[in-house]
Amino acid sequence: MSKRTFSIGGIHPRDSKISRECPIETLPVPPVAYVSVSQHIGAPAKPVVAVGDKVKAGQVVAEPGGFVSAFIHSPVSGTVKSIGPRKDLAGNNQTTIEIAVEGDEWAEGIDLTPDVVKDFPDDNSAIMDKIRQGGIVGLGGATFPTQVKLAPPPGKKCEMLIINGCECEPYLTCNYRYMLERAEQVVIGTAIIKQVLGVDKATIAVEDNKPESIAHVQKVVDSLAASSPKFSGISVMPMQTKYPEGGEKQLIDAVMHRQVPSGALPIDVGAVVQNVATAFAVYEAVQKNKPLVSNTLTLTGDCLSAQHNYEVRTGTPISFIIECAGGLPETAAKVISGGPMMGKAIANLDAATVKGTSGLLVLTEEQTRRRPQSNCIRCGKCSDACPMGLEPFLLFRLTKADMADELEANAAQDCIECGCCLYSCPANLPLLDIIRTGKQKVMGIIRARAAAAKAAAEAKAAK
Ligand code: SF4
Ligand code: SF4
Repeated sequence: MSKRTFSIGGIHPRDSKISRECPIETLPVPPVAYVSVSQHIGAPAKPVVAVGDKVKAGQVVAEPGGFVSAFIHSPVSGTVKSIGPRKDLAGNNQTTIEIAVEGDEWAEGIDLTPDVVKDFPDDNSAIMDKIRQGGIVGLGGATFPTQVKLAPPPGKKCEMLIINGCECEPYLTCNYRYMLERAEQVVIGTAIIKQVLGVDKATIAVEDNKPESIAHVQKVVDSLAASSPKFSGISVMPMQTKYPEGGEKQLIDAVMHRQVPSGALPIDVGAVVQNVATAFAVYEAVQKNKPLVSNTLTLTGDCLSAQHNYEVRTGTPISFIIECAGGLPETAAKVISGGPMMGKAIANLDAATVKGTSGLLVLTEEQTRRRPQSNCIRCGKCSDACPMGLEPFLLFRLTKADMADELEANAAQDCIECGCCLYSCPANLPLLDIIRTGKQKVMGIIRARAAAAKAAAEAKAAK
């Protein structure tokens, strides 16, 4: 039987999962942690500590700054040295709490034992509180605060929970390692999320280039289902290996055969998607009272003599991680945060990891060199590859001509920045780089329009 996949576009880049055999190693605690208050989508958190304060690992250092925001906890124990702007991975200034590390003392009440706790509370509001208090955010790339995603607005109902184990980005393998090494916690986290959403069905979707994790997770699902009805209704679904299978809208299409319309959310078609790493983080918050202060990332690259999957404290400087791995080879030219398709070049290696950092990819000069551009030959390969059904060359032209209205009419705002068009173009045109600019412009217009409409409605209501 052919495995499921999404219905439009997609590509088959070499998966280059050269770190797949590398078990998760715990990286030493860095001498200093740089804790950004903007580690999630939404309003930055507000610091609640002051310079000179002593903090413990797992202690709250910043509180949510709005409805869509998240708690930030100290990933280390030590003294707050400064609070102020510091460059993040992309080179933008973010308010950052600098903590000089002293020992490794944890806040009270956090279970640091390796014991797996299966039974979870029936009380969903207590669970949601732990998820919120734990600062859990989506770890599949978007870093959307999890407690917001798990509370569908009135009138919307989740019919299917999809746990995303596709990890379709080439080179990255930390989700694969989660499914091999922490499958029990991932499945318990899945059951917890499923209960909170009140859905009967959850599926853990995994690309078929990871047969070992498919088999292992299935075994764990069967064993937990036999132990308690709380674990029933969870299935494992092998997916065709095709990029970007792990894109939220693509995965919903593949699993449920439903399309999320332009401007709509997964919940509008009855779906909630969470990453396997998020399911693990939910398990840790609910079952172990442990906030999100560390994450697993893949350090990889063809030019490296050894590959790694590291569990690191959030706020760890990239330079420290690289030092622990033996440094960069002379041939290294660029370090990317994330994978080669959707990752972003790191502007400064002294920048620190955040909750959503899932990979560090080291590339050589040769690997980063852009091939010479030529004129568009109207081959249509970019449109064929686009998983959002867009016309990338048209968006490219409209962006260059600064035609914002036409860009919006041609759904530039729907671009998921997957890079399939760029990968497919025989003329080597910088399609994604240009389209991204056009998309940002359209998004700005849409946001301004929504704000103006809201202000007008409020003014009318006040009359
Ligand atoms: S980057 Fe945007 S335009 Fe290009 S293929 Fe992906 S979704 Fe389509
Ligand atoms: S793939 Fe490149 S050359 Fe072909 S139509 Fe698109 S932009 Fe033009």
